[in-house]
Amino acid sequence: MRIAYLDRTVHETDGEPKPNGDVSAISKSIDLQGSVETGDKTTIASKDFGGLYSIKPLALIKPAGSDDISRAIKAASRIPRMTVAARGNGHSINGQAMTNGGLVIDMRSTEENHFRLLNINGSFFIDVSGGALWENVLTRCVSRFGLAPRSWTDYLSLTVGGTLSNAGVSGQAFRYGPQISNVTELEIVTGKGDITVCSETRNPELFFGSLGGLGQFGIITRARVKLQPAPDMVRWIRVVYTEFDEFTRDAEFLVSRDDGESFDYVEGFVFCNNDDPVNGWPAVPLDPVHGFNPGIIPQTGASVLYCLEVAFHYQKGDHPSTVDKAVAGLLKRLRFVEGLKSQVDLSYVEFLLRVKRAEEQAKANGIWDAPHPWLNLFISKSNIVDFDQTVFKKMVKDGIGGPMLIYPLMRSKWDNRTSVALPDSEIFYLVALLRFVSRGPSVEESVAQNREIVEWCIKEGLDFKLYLPHYQSKEGWKRHFGDQWTRFVERKASFDPMAILAPGQNIFKRTHLS
Ligand code: FAD
Repeated sequence: MRIAYLDRTVHETDGEPKPNGDVSAISKSIDLQGSVETGDKTTIASKDFGGLYSIKPLALIKPAGSDDISRAIKAASRIPRMTVAARGNGHSINGQAMTNGGLVIDMRSTEENHFRLLNINGSFFIDVSGGALWENVLTRCVSRFGLAPRSWTDYLSLTVGGTLSNAGVSGQAFRYGPQISNVTELEIVTGKGDITVCSETRNPELFFGSLGGLGQFGIITRARVKLQPAPDMVRWIRVVYTEFDEFTRDAEFLVSRDDGESFDYVEGFVFCNNDDPVNGWPAVPLDPVHGFNPGIIPQTGASVLYCLEVAFHYQKGDHPSTVDKAVAGLLKRLRFVEGLKSQVDLSYVEFLLRVKRAEEQAKANGIWDAPHPWLNLFISKSNIVDFDQTVFKKMVKDGIGGPMLIYPLMRSKWDNRTSVALPDSEIFYLVALLRFVSRGPSVEESVAQNREIVEWCIKEGLDFKLYLPHYQSKEGWKRHFGDQWTRFVERKASFDPMAILAPGQNIFKRTHLS
């Protein structure tokens, strides 16, 4: 299909210069195997999961594969000021996959490309499309090969390219590192339209730059992901703490132990010490039949409590007593409140798709589509007590209308050649305030509170980074990247950047593509 649809003048709508050339002359020469959508058919690309911004692209390209993406980028390069953004599944919060008056490349249309198992020197890998959803990678790998990727996100309706452009973290990352530590090769269409294969040894600057590279180095069209044998079953367990220092001591103990001497998944969350159905005790039990007995909570329990969430993998053939013994051996080292424990056994795939069930319920209740002013932070271990005292125990002590995650990660499992910016300390925490505004404070209050939290972190000099970063100023980005700023900018320039990060953030916009 021709990109003749792009024959249109784009007007300035937000004070930024927009492409204003007559693009038809260029686009007429380009044939795509995929399609180009304009007008109302681009609506999906003008919003994201955050629901905070609405930005209209010029066109939504649905490529058939890398050649189409290359042609579209080359065409864009001939249009003055044209920008290009890859869109995975649009689950960003702050417009990261949008571009005002530019081209959005809808990677979902490439989902079926590149599904290939490889055995390299006895280790298994899967080649998947950058536009594939992780949930499909999971179910296909397990059902066809009995294998699975090692590192996940909590929710899997996200694309491979979307999470690799950030990091991709969940309760397995303490052991295997984030998803970006679990890929060995990428195919990328650069900002020049070159289709390039890269790895640790082949075009390493492009490889490491793109991992956590916020979509600024090119479009990831294929990723080679490490696999391991998939377990059959998971025992999923939650235990409750009243004291933050005991919660963090146990969480850090578990993530610091060697393979085979800990759980296979470690996360945690903060909840309110009351009967609020969303923010309080009812949010804890894994099996509603177990309930939550608040009478057991010691008198010392403050406004908020802490839940450590762990999981243990096993095979169907394992004797139940072997599993019970192994789990009991790990739990007996922990200092949770006795009696406040909840557990379920479920298949590995069901466990990894657990948030999908929550999504289905939230959709049925009409809260999934409401705005989500989420805040994700990485905070150094040395500052996490201060953060608990001020943020959890004071600012958000009444809840936020959604989960408040907190769990430790190990810096040594991350590769410092990637583009991700991290706190300095070996142990740092992921903190995620996952707000559903239909159940909590308003959008304005939530955004203001997020800002207040970040400003407090800056004022107090905390060693922290925004995860899924978004800033409105160059100063913000420079502070975020710190020592890595120059490397990021120089790397980006050499691959000719094209995407924009979010509204108003024109410092990362492509200035030229040719
Ligand atoms: P999009 O939002 O479409 O894109 C994100 C960024 O990546 C944009 O900058 C875009 O331009 C770029 N991009 C997209 N595709 C490509 C590509 N192929 N090549 C180059 N750049 C590309 N994150 C975690 O780490 N752990 C979690 O547990 C987790 N849970 C989540 C749960 C929910 C319900 C939601 C909504 C988000 C969650 N996230 C989590 C955040 C998520 O990882 C990011 O928002 C991710 O970017 C979303 O993927 P996406 O496919 O929707 O990407």
